[in-house]
Amino acid sequence: MSKVTWQLATVTAIRPETPHVKTFILSLPQFTPHLAGQHYDLRLTAEGGYQAERSYSIASPPEQTGEIELTVEIIPDGEVSGYLDEGVAVGDQLEVRGPIGGYFVWRGEPGAPPLLLVGGGSGVVPLMAILRHRQRLGLRPPAVLLFSVRTPEEVIYRAELEAMAQADDGFTLLLDYTRQTPPGWAGYHRRIDAAMLAEVVARFGETKPQAFVCGPTGLVESVANGLQAAGLAPAMILTERFGPTGA
Ligand SMILES: Cc1cc2nc3c(=O)[nH]c(=O)nc-3n(C[C@H](O)[C@H](O)[C@H](O)COP(=O)(O)OP(=O)(O)OC[C@H]3O[C@@H](n4cnc5c(N)ncnc54)[C@H](O)[C@@H]3O)c2cc1C
Repeated sequence: MSKVTWQLATVTAIRPETPHVKTFILSLPQFTPHLAGQHYDLRLTAEGGYQAERSYSIASPPEQTGEIELTVEIIPDGEVSGYLDEGVAVGDQLEVRGPIGGYFVWRGEPGAPPLLLVGGGSGVVPLMAILRHRQRLGLRPPAVLLFSVRTPEEVIYRAELEAMAQADDGFTLLLDYTRQTPPGWAGYHRRIDAAMLAEVVARFGETKPQAFVCGPTGLVESVANGLQAAGLAPAMILTERFGPTGA
């Protein structure tokens, strides 16, 4: 992997995604091409020299060059996400380094197996980079996104995901609302469990998918177990843990 050094990115836009999630578009003086699924580290330095560092997945696809998009969920009392929410404006500079990570990545090579993406909350961010990359490929494997959120207003990238599903027969969006559903909702309305995963895996028929699972640690672990129970080999299940559930 190339040398990863800290650099000062400039915030060129801030896009609200949901009431508690914002996307920061960062222009990079030294842009290094990334793979879908990789992340950047972001470091804040206080006046006294105290530093806080967190990882954020890249939401933008590899085809988007010169800048990266980071989508951040504002955690109550979150040290870094709270600062990004309240203390950062367009034109500000942020210290970042990346791209980082060589395991939870999708290259979209020809002949790649179908994709099963499972995300909880902001865990959808690297999965979105995968979907955005997939959308730009000529030959796309079929893909299913199972996206678990508490309420309808928490669906990050809703408009783009729905448009993608409308335009592409090979992409299926499965939303799962664990608490509140939209009126008349006939889809999933419970935490992701083994029965749900077995149903989703069965959609792929004989060809087993490559799974990418990302979100709070508890969700990732239970989904990885459920996918194995549904017949996926451990090597076909890639996971990324974002941290505590915060639930
Ligand atoms: C590889 C990787 C990629 C990541 N990508 C993203 C991303 O794309 N978008 C994103 O929003 N986050 C992402 N995260 C999580 C992110 O790094 C931080 O952990 C998160 O922003 C919280 O940091 P904070 O300083 O705001 O909160 P802290 O001050 O560290 O924590 C405040 C409180 O929130 C709890 N908490 C910490 N992290 C989380 C969490 N992830 N979910 C719920 N509760 C939490 C803590 O236990 C604590 O109680 C990623 C993490 C990893 C390891």
